[in-house]
Amino acid sequence: KFLNPGRALANKDGRRADGPRRPYVVINKVAKSFHGKRVLRDVSFNIFPGEVVFLIGPSGSGKTTLLRTINRLETVDDGEITVGGQFVGYRASAGRPVPLRDAARSRARVGVGMVFQHFNLFDHLTVLENVIEAPVRVHGTKRDQARAEARELLAWAGLAEYENHYPHQLSGGQQQRIAIIRAVATRPKLLLFDEPTSALDPELVNEVLDLMRKLAESGMTMVVVSHEIVFARDWADKVVFMEDGEIVQHGAPEEVFNSPDNPRTKNFVHLIE
Ligand code: ADP
Repeated sequence: KFLNPGRALANKDGRRADGPRRPYVVINKVAKSFHGKRVLRDVSFNIFPGEVVFLIGPSGSGKTTLLRTINRLETVDDGEITVGGQFVGYRASAGRPVPLRDAARSRARVGVGMVFQHFNLFDHLTVLENVIEAPVRVHGTKRDQARAEARELLAWAGLAEYENHYPHQLSGGQQQRIAIIRAVATRPKLLLFDEPTSALDPELVNEVLDLMRKLAESGMTMVVVSHEIVFARDWADKVVFMEDGEIVQHGAPEEVFNSPDNPRTKNFVHLIE
């Protein structure tokens, strides 16, 4: 009954719906400084339901900061961000930044989940307990129901056999897959990934990418900060290339990668390949 995980926003035919679509996330002229240093300037783009967006660019270009503003882990100084029609960033007309307090509740309301570079599982809890933690504590799901759903999700991800394991008994790739399922268990409409494979040994990267791909194919709307260019080329719907806090180029992967008309993009793609 529960599943597929991406069904929250996807239309019944899966992603790439035809016809007029409304963006789920609108990022409009966002600016952000830390201690007087501009880290985001005039950043604007939309994310549509079911879309997979890769944020790429050199280290320090503002990708993580942008991801964190979408999830209200950071405020923005100017411009606005709406998720599911609700303001999550600064609303210029309101005249002051939206406070970060209540951010967790706000995230739950608009349905944003996040996966971090360092899996951040609870070490003292089993896999199953990790997965049901947020549904039970934040969303008020009954424990039995949360357990049943968690088992279903773990099975879907091929992780059922680990439900009673503790994180330290698992490989990094397994831990990150559990972290992804833990995020999915909150039934997000949007999943944000912050360099999900960059802490992993190379031989463990693919199992995590495979699960992300499975999620994407189920219709999940995803924003991924990653250096996995080949992966982005294969199945991103949109690639956003950032440098120095600005969007240098964005569009379909074939546009951005195959004919980078911008020398900065070209140079970056060349460097990373
Ligand atoms: P990326 O993800 O592209 O590597 P980041 O968004 O992490 O880039 O960082 C962009 C810039 O903002 C960097 O110069 C970084 O040092 C700075 N920065 C990020 N977070 C903070 C913070 N909390 N306080 C001060 N500076 C920060």
